[in-house]
Amino acid sequence: MAQRFSTRTVCVKVALDTAAAAALCATQVAFNQAASYCATVAWEQGIVNKNKLHHVVYGPTRVQFGLGAQLACCARDKAAEAVSAAKSNKSSTCPCFAADSSVRYDAHTYRLMSLDRVSLNTIRGRVIGQLVPGDFQRRTLSDPSWNIGGAELVRRQGVWYLHITQSQAASKPDEPRGVLGVDLGIVNIATDSDGTQYSGVQVRLVRDKCYQHRRRLQLANTRRSRWRLRQIANREHRFQKHVNHEVSKQLVGKASTARKALALEDLKHIRKRTDKTVRHGQRRTRSSWAFAQLRQFVAYKAVQAGVCMVYIDPRNTSRTCSACGHCEQANRQNQASFLCRRCGYRAHADANAAINISCVGAVNLPNVLRLSN
Ligand SMILES: [Zn+2]
Repeated sequence: MAQRFSTRTVCVKVALDTAAAAALCATQVAFNQAASYCATVAWEQGIVNKNKLHHVVYGPTRVQFGLGAQLACCARDKAAEAVSAAKSNKSSTCPCFAADSSVRYDAHTYRLMSLDRVSLNTIRGRVIGQLVPGDFQRRTLSDPSWNIGGAELVRRQGVWYLHITQSQAASKPDEPRGVLGVDLGIVNIATDSDGTQYSGVQVRLVRDKCYQHRRRLQLANTRRSRWRLRQIANREHRFQKHVNHEVSKQLVGKASTARKALALEDLKHIRKRTDKTVRHGQRRTRSSWAFAQLRQFVAYKAVQAGVCMVYIDPRNTSRTCSACGHCEQANRQNQASFLCRRCGYRAHADANAAINISCVGAVNLPNVLRLSN
């Protein structure tokens, strides 16, 4: 069985003197030009293997862009990964990196030192920066159960940040004793098969307020209103991320305590449903909520907690009676209520769907276990 790892990223601000900042700016430009060059070569020659790409691009990368041996390898890796991601997404354009895109660092090109200092490779030699971690970052970075991996250096509005990756061997999933089904929705972001609902009200209030505010600013369309729009967008993203972290933490915690697997609808169907069956007015709310992000958070927290995940095709889960199995569109009276036309079973529509999802999940479970062993 392949060892599974969970990873996490810690973002820390880096303070630099003028000379070091200038060296990093120059490195950032050269690095991304080199990465774009590597991506073009990989794309045009159809190379996805990093070693093969290395033989073709290593010489030119060092000569043309002035990168040291190790940074050249990092640029190549960044390019190779972007190209294979683009290929698997069936993209028709070759990836290209902006001059202010991130710089990748690995164990050979950066080093965390005592007193919160960090040493970084640049095209002008090594520079030393001062990390400025908050309490949370300091605790996270010094946790001995996590290994320090590579990092991405980014600059946002003139401030440098290092996104440091940490990894840890994941615990092996327990043999589940049942399945907790989760229905994702507009009014309630998530409902589980025990009938517990996760947030909704607060989220909708904030989003509607933001939406109205955005509309006004879009109509104004001045320099200042465009700036405000960007601010609002950032704030909404942070809020959404916070809620998704909370909801995913609660779901995984509950499944872990009950030693149950988690069943969620698969991503393909979330998209489909957003396109077709959601009324126009609701589409904004549904498609703009990052269900993909919520799923991703649930997935990685599940790996960390050793909780098994099952993804299911959610067709009919909202119109099938979880008591007698009768499937009919009219069973679902409206957004909130479910009433079976055959047996008269009455339930909250989301909870009924979540029970169905847990049943489908339970059927699929043996396959999942076989795959992960
Ligand atoms: Zn029924």
